[in-house]
Amino acid sequence: MEALQQYIDKAAVLVQALPYIQFFRGKVVVVKYGGSTMADAADDTVLADIVFMESVGIKPVIVHGGGPAIDRRLEEAGIETKRVNGLRVTDEATMKVVEQTLFGEINASIVEEIARLGGRARGLSPKDPGIMHVRKHLAKMADGSEVDIGYVGAVERIDAAPITALINEGTIPVLAPIGRGPGDLAYNVNADTAAGEVAAALHAEKLVFLTDVQGILEDPADVDSLLSTVHVEGAESLIAAGIVSGGMIPKVRAGVHSVKAGVGKTHIIDGRISHSMLLEFFTDEGVGTQIVQ
Ligand code: ADP
Ligand code: MG
Repeated sequence: MEALQQYIDKAAVLVQALPYIQFFRGKVVVVKYGGSTMADAADDTVLADIVFMESVGIKPVIVHGGGPAIDRRLEEAGIETKRVNGLRVTDEATMKVVEQTLFGEINASIVEEIARLGGRARGLSPKDPGIMHVRKHLAKMADGSEVDIGYVGAVERIDAAPITALINEGTIPVLAPIGRGPGDLAYNVNADTAAGEVAAALHAEKLVFLTDVQGILEDPADVDSLLSTVHVEGAESLIAAGIVSGGMIPKVRAGVHSVKAGVGKTHIIDGRISHSMLLEFFTDEGVGTQIVQ
């Protein structure tokens, strides 16, 4: 009897998801899968959640990062990393390692894992039809001068057609944050920025950043200071006040940009929690921080 009750409870949980599944069916959601979340992916449920979403008719698109893995590979290759304003100075040798790690290693393993879970995915990079067109990003210094930091791109335009074509044939696009820039060369793009631009270009219903904190914390040292909602107008002041810093800055800016461009909502959630994405999509329990108009 008790066992039967357990199954009934499980069925009830499934049925509770029904209105959410009906709402999201046919809609595009962009997921930024962070480098930091992948690192401690002992029981990584992220890709299983994404395959689940695709199976019930939602159209997920993955944009991934890879900072920590790139740092490791550069160290192994004996290439020293310099940063200006938090951005990696990317010379030709560095770009080669970046491309190899992001595309050859991380992107390929995501595609493989999705296949293992019974889904279908395709990796996309600048080697494919030009999806992300970039110009050279110059770092702005405090004195107003601009510094060339190599193959670092600022997104100029996204060609959504090749991504949409994959989505429509039931394939999950997996995008490495590499754009095509001057000279038809590969340029490194911040993965959060890339995710925001892709979500905007696809008119996504939702953009989700999976990261290694609960969301935006009012006091980064206090895990109980989660801000569950941030309004577009209030976001820059969090950066100006120093509350949002480092790797959280491009997420907040990309979130604001995408919401202003018509994406329904942006969420910053904890990728370390099992099934955090399913919780976000299919229950009333809002997890993490939402950025809204
Ligand atoms: P990801 O791989 O997900 O991009 P990052 O390290 O680049 O991870 O960005 C997430 C980090 O941003 C957090 O681990 C935290 O150290 C930092 N951070 C800065 N300001 C905040 C804030 N106000 N709330 C939460 N995290 C913050
Ligand atoms: Mg980051």
